[in-house]
Amino acid sequence: RKVADMLSVSGLNAYYGESHVLHDVALNVRQGEVVTLLGRNGAGKTTTLKSIMGIIAKRTGSINFTGTELIQLRADQIARLGVAFCPEERAIFSTLNVEENLLLPPVVKPGGMPLDEIYELFPNLLERRRSQGTKLSGGEQQMLAIARILRTGATLLMLDEPTEGLAPVIVQQIGEMIRKLQTRGFTILLVEQNFHFAATLADRHYVMESGKIIDMIEKEQVAASMDKLNEYLGV
Ligand code: ATP
Repeated sequence: RKVADMLSVSGLNAYYGESHVLHDVALNVRQGEVVTLLGRNGAGKTTTLKSIMGIIAKRTGSINFTGTELIQLRADQIARLGVAFCPEERAIFSTLNVEENLLLPPVVKPGGMPLDEIYELFPNLLERRRSQGTKLSGGEQQMLAIARILRTGATLLMLDEPTEGLAPVIVQQIGEMIRKLQTRGFTILLVEQNFHFAATLADRHYVMESGKIIDMIEKEQVAASMDKLNEYLGV
């Protein structure tokens, strides 16, 4: 069974000023997959997501999303096509409460998730809907940040280290939430440092080092690839 790629990146190069950070990055994500981008600090994972999102202006190569070339487009145009990026910094408005945070993001594409569905998916947020952003735990902030990008109507969700700094029980909740999103048909590109978490979720893993993709490992190959994965990730 051959499923068409939803996202197809090839020959992607990206720069911060004069600094050449991504080198001919190529990766594919099929409709409905969860794919991770693994690698040590500074390998270029965040830069890859930001390049796809159009946040890094200086980039060359090809980024094909459902048949449309993104490389010349701006972030707002890319968002309108159904791509969303949830940064590591958990971009929420700390002075607004949960519900205000959810009502704020523009639905840039028809099909943004209605509030009642968001609350069904994130029961914690329903409970905390009148709580101000600053009063939320790290896990609740992360859930809210992800819930906000669902409001935009995106179909490809790019999540940058959603488990960073969270307690194991919360990490598990985030994992369950990602699985539910996949069941609902979302496609997810996930940057992770926590390989054990990533391994339970992803259909495929790409490994990055020094701005290059150095390996691709299918779910079925993970067990047999543990030695090289440990070496790549410096565990
Ligand atoms: P981390 O997990 O630490 O975020 P990463 O794999 O996501 O690592 P990137 O953040 O993409 O790595 O960084 C890739 C390279 O680009 C690093 O060498 C980093 O120092 C550099 N870099 C990142 N952001 C900038 C910036 N705004 N200006 C200049 N260089 C940057």
